[in-house]
Amino acid sequence: MNRAILPGLALYAVSSSLGLFLGQDPSGPLIMAWLTGLVLLAFLLFYSTYTSPEPLKPYPFIVLGVIVLNFLVQVTGGIHSLLWPAYFLFTVSIAGFSVRPLARTYVTVGLILALETANRLAPKQVQEFQWEAYAGYALSLAGVSLVTAYIMHHVRGREKQVRDAHEQLLAHAHAVDPLADKTRLPGLTREERQATNVDAALKREVTFNGLLEFIYELVPAHTYALFLKEHKDGKDVLTLRAVLSDSRSPATIGSAQDLDPGQDQWIIGKCAKDREPKRLNDDLRIPSLALGYYHREVPVRSFFAFPILDDGGNVLGVLAVDSLEQGAFSEETCQILKRFTPFFIQIIERIRIAQELNIRASHFESLHQMSAILNSSLELNAILNRLAEQLAVMVPHDLCLFLRYDEPSGQAVVLHKSGPALQNDSRSGEIVERLRSVLHMRKPSPEREQTFPVEQNAILAQMLMHWKNGRMQPYHFPDFGDRGGEIRLLGENSKERPELKTLSCWPLAAGDRFLGCFFLGSLQVNAFSELQRNFLDTLMNQVAMVVDNSIMHQNIRDMARTDGLTGLLNHRTFMEKLSEEYKRIDRESRPFSILLMDIDKFKNVNDTYGHPVGDLAIKSVAKVLKETARATDFVARYGGEEFAVGMVDTRSEGAQQMAERVRAIMEKTVAARIGSRDLMITLSIGVSSFPEDTRNAADLVTLADNALYQAKRSGRNRVCLLKDIKAGDEEAALKPA
Ligand code: GH3
Ligand code: MG
Ligand code: MG
Repeated sequence: MNRAILPGLALYAVSSSLGLFLGQDPSGPLIMAWLTGLVLLAFLLFYSTYTSPEPLKPYPFIVLGVIVLNFLVQVTGGIHSLLWPAYFLFTVSIAGFSVRPLARTYVTVGLILALETANRLAPKQVQEFQWEAYAGYALSLAGVSLVTAYIMHHVRGREKQVRDAHEQLLAHAHAVDPLADKTRLPGLTREERQATNVDAALKREVTFNGLLEFIYELVPAHTYALFLKEHKDGKDVLTLRAVLSDSRSPATIGSAQDLDPGQDQWIIGKCAKDREPKRLNDDLRIPSLALGYYHREVPVRSFFAFPILDDGGNVLGVLAVDSLEQGAFSEETCQILKRFTPFFIQIIERIRIAQELNIRASHFESLHQMSAILNSSLELNAILNRLAEQLAVMVPHDLCLFLRYDEPSGQAVVLHKSGPALQNDSRSGEIVERLRSVLHMRKPSPEREQTFPVEQNAILAQMLMHWKNGRMQPYHFPDFGDRGGEIRLLGENSKERPELKTLSCWPLAAGDRFLGCFFLGSLQVNAFSELQRNFLDTLMNQVAMVVDNSIMHQNIRDMARTDGLTGLLNHRTFMEKLSEEYKRIDRESRPFSILLMDIDKFKNVNDTYGHPVGDLAIKSVAKVLKETARATDFVARYGGEEFAVGMVDTRSEGAQQMAERVRAIMEKTVAARIGSRDLMITLSIGVSSFPEDTRNAADLVTLADNALYQAKRSGRNRVCLLKDIKAGDEEAALKPA
């Protein structure tokens, strides 16, 4: 409060009591000067009240009102003025609107009587005195004021106040109850959910403020500040969630902020830490900036804070109350305040439920999206990639791995692996691959399946064993400590061994088939909540079905593409792959070669040993070809006892070497055993290459066939190139007919 205001008001009260203006011309210079001062004083009073952090003090305004009224009464005829009853109105309204009506009405009536009495005694008073009338008027004024004040006080009585506030409280609590609001749950799109969250946050603020207002009505104080315990960036903080204060200016009172309860000098943090109320009643002055909710020093003289504890004794928050008066928080007041704890807990609990429902809704939405991915007609690889992308949002992780168990071979096949924990290796590998393809050194190797024996992944092996014993359950390791790097998820030879702290694993099984395992890992301890794991339990059932379907489809596709006897590609598929390669050759003009081979004198084998032995011999050729071919080559059973190999990025010379190797191996291989006798067979092989032999890719098969024919013609068990045909022709020409 500005120091000039109170003495100024006192001066004006005295000057108006002199009755200076009775019967005067209101536009006279004396009155004008007096009025200017009054306006200035009023302005100072309003301005200092507005800017002061301290609560509004009504007394100066009442005094100002009485002075103004007294002036008006004087200039309009004193006791005979029509404005005289305005006093009456003024007192009644003060009684009605003030929080402590009786006290203020006494002050007002006293002031009016004093001023009017002084006016009567003033020498300038020219009116004839009517003491009886005046006294009766004054007494009735006081009496009516008191009665009104008394009635007003009881109409807005304590009981009704409590009932109103309680209803208000229930309305607020209801507003945040997610179960009571039907519009909240179906919000499944992200936008709707975000809107709901914002809405819930707004309602929460309103609800806490409503509760504070309710308490404020019953226990007036300077500031109420509610801090809630929240978990942020891995530690507990107290966040200012609601504040109600007579210091209304935002420059004075804090907005939401996080404070570490670990700070010992912070009394509210200490209150949460010790789980005990803290009271400062006797200190002469409390440094209010240190309380954590003021931005400016405020003359706080009493302070009380108590922890909001749930049934289990856990701290949910702290309610702090302060007052500018000394000794404001008696033991009884503190007990009243503490009785509000259940209301805070109720609201906090409802917010928690609302948030959980939101998370469930988002899980439901994600499950829905993921089902759509799972049911899409994409290839298994693509499905798992998309699934992993979605999971990264839903359940943040550092490693995501799908392993398939291949029963016939006892191998684990890596269906999918991703996550930041693996990123370094694969990224540098990717760069090398790109460089190579840019430099045309080699085409990027096609996705080869990474496999390793099942025993090398202890968890997978364990799950398989359990499954065989009729047990199927996920494993969760919340904390590996510093032993995370020892887990070999990708086999013994893999260099990818992230230092995982958390690992969760789900077995994938469908019907009577154990399909494999899904791993989700994190470099953080205890990274996956129960809610998230439950969600994955459901999801993995679906994933297992999709993997099972996909394996079945793969088998059917393989059957249509391969030859039943040898497992090599069949003729049709070989031709398809050839035409794909032709397109690529046209586009990129990279070398390509074909081998065509035919078993020599095979009719004899059949005739001598029978068809089944012939089949064994055919299988032995297939085996040799599979073992000799590179990963990028494609090998087919071209006809009955004829075979073909397509060799990508291979020139004539390389193709010839490969053909020669196959021929030499076959020559030494026992194709079948008949009793104690070894059946040996040989191959004739024709080679044709792009671009050496032709620039028209479509001619390659015919040219290879010609070369094969030349190999047969020139004695069998040999490799012939196109250039050998010409040489052979010359030889034939030289031979006598
Ligand atoms: P050449 O050295 O000239 O190739 O003599 P060849 O006897 O092998 O002659 P050719 O290639 O024409 O013989 C094809 C024979 O291969 C006919 C058939 O008896 C035999 N054959 C073809 N398909 C199969 C098969 O699936 N199983 C068995 N056991 N024999 C087959
Ligand atoms: Mg043949
Ligand atoms: Mg043959």
